[in-house]
Amino acid sequence: MRKLALSDEILLTIDKPARYIGDEVNMVKKDLDKVDIRFCMCFPDVYEIGMSHLGIQILYDMFNRREDTYCERVYSPWVDLDKIMREKEIPLFALESQEPVKNFDFLGITLQYEMCYTNILQVLELSQIPLYAKDRTEEHPFVLGGGPCSYNPEPIADFFDFFYIGEGETVYDQLLDVYKENKRLGGSRKDYLEKIAQIEGIYVPSFYEVSYHEDGKISSFKKNNNHAKDTICKQVEMNLSDTFYPKKPLVPYIKVTQDRVVLEIQRGCIRGCRFCQAGMIYRPIRERDVEFLKSYACDMLKATGHEEISLSSLSSSDYSALSELIYYLIEEFNGKGVNISLPSLRIDAFALDVMSKVQDVKKSSLTFAPEAGSQRLRDVINKGLSEESILKGAMDAFRAGWNRVKLYFMLGLPTENEEDIEGIAVLADKIAREYYTITKDQRNGKVSIVASTSFFVPKPFTPFQWSRMDTAEEYLVKQKFLRSKLNDQLNRKSIKYNWHEAELSVLEGVFARGDRRISKVIYDAYKAGCLFDSWSEFFHNELWMKAFEDNHLDIAFYTSREREVDEILPWDYIDVGVTKAFLWREYKRGISEKVTPNCRRACANCGADVFNGGVCYESREGAAL
Ligand code: SF4
Repeated sequence: MRKLALSDEILLTIDKPARYIGDEVNMVKKDLDKVDIRFCMCFPDVYEIGMSHLGIQILYDMFNRREDTYCERVYSPWVDLDKIMREKEIPLFALESQEPVKNFDFLGITLQYEMCYTNILQVLELSQIPLYAKDRTEEHPFVLGGGPCSYNPEPIADFFDFFYIGEGETVYDQLLDVYKENKRLGGSRKDYLEKIAQIEGIYVPSFYEVSYHEDGKISSFKKNNNHAKDTICKQVEMNLSDTFYPKKPLVPYIKVTQDRVVLEIQRGCIRGCRFCQAGMIYRPIRERDVEFLKSYACDMLKATGHEEISLSSLSSSDYSALSELIYYLIEEFNGKGVNISLPSLRIDAFALDVMSKVQDVKKSSLTFAPEAGSQRLRDVINKGLSEESILKGAMDAFRAGWNRVKLYFMLGLPTENEEDIEGIAVLADKIAREYYTITKDQRNGKVSIVASTSFFVPKPFTPFQWSRMDTAEEYLVKQKFLRSKLNDQLNRKSIKYNWHEAELSVLEGVFARGDRRISKVIYDAYKAGCLFDSWSEFFHNELWMKAFEDNHLDIAFYTSREREVDEILPWDYIDVGVTKAFLWREYKRGISEKVTPNCRRACANCGADVFNGGVCYESREGAAL
């Protein structure tokens, strides 16, 4: 029988023990004596969140197809188990073999959002692996990071042996082959790092040194090892239909955030919203072949028993064979106990038609993300969404029986003024007014509108990477102002307002554009008790503030300061294809309220055509708006 790392006694005292026992449906089992490489994949958040992540499922499948490698998983132990593991000195273990992570060759950590940084330290500490890369010896696994936050890895650079910049499918095989070869030759840890530093997309932070001006800005970023590259080029998988995708994804025994089959229909986005990092770093847009998707949908539903399939993409409406795919799925699965969910659709006639076929119209609400309240500000951010199209979409939906609308906005966007903020309240009210133009006998009760605001956080590799970010105080003033404007509206009773925490967003802003000095702050905050920071009940702003103070680092330096064009940015050594010149051009166009058309209408020469494929090489004749 499989031996578990935790005793029955412990499992019975903690919340949701199924988080730690593994053995889920489709879990890969391998004979440990027959593998050369042991790779532990980590999502540094609780099991239910980590299990919902598609990237891990893809890499898990890909690694385990190699006979010489066994890829296992680990997630952050919840606070109850964390306490017990520390008290009893139980080393953190992987779910598959239940063996300590410290015995593995690699610990690969996916970096999906900045507020998981203290959880990385938790995973390392509970694994009994030194937190700082410089303290690790030949005995320890290599700790590597990948995912969106690795596009500015500097705030956590000291904790990692190396980072992988780009999509996982491309050079992992090479990393593992070199590892085996290095081991066979009796090479050291440093030998391995020097060898992989020459592979495209690999960044070994210890091979670079950063120095600073007196005012805190970076003065130079230099290599200290001849094997390191000057520039780290993002790696992308250009042929998405001839690559890895799990036909048998893992199925957990407990409810997780995304309890469904996820079908990734494309990568990248043609839209170019100026605040959106994903829209820039995943360029160019590449589609998966529709026949590939149809066959995978069938296989995955069969292998998992899930009752829902979700199409994943940054903007599903831009997938060129969307109607063919959706009507196929409806035909095959709807009415057979399988739900089809369609996030990130633009609300138009086609979307409403399919949504009325696949969703319970009365229960579901429609989501619009205008992001800004006024047309002026929507042009600044290049949202490409007019008020007319929002109102028309809402009206069509109301006529079709919907009466609930969710609206997402951001506060604190560059150039924002009071009129823009008031515009949020006015737009919500206009939507409600549209609803009440329908005669009483034709409409479906009262309308309900939920307006949510998050706080704009400037991210690396976006046109707004040079922008200042509001302080928490400024944000709170804006939030209050908006609340009063919403209260002034005729339909105020139909409108509910939700908002995000300001302090958490400010911290996210520091980590997003931070440099290497931030790692000491993260270390100190973690040691002072910060963990699960993205969970508001565990977020302790005062501990973070103290850590910044102790390290003589000023939050405002990282957040509420506009950067000059010639300032060295902490992530400048990374090349994502999209050029800095393009981003600066877009920043200037944004400030002067100029809209840039999407990639299918006209190419804006962003630089991503260096990858030789995708939308950059499509014909633009008769392209859609
Ligand atoms: S090179 Fe042109 S088409 Fe390609 S991603 Fe950039 S703007 Fe879009």
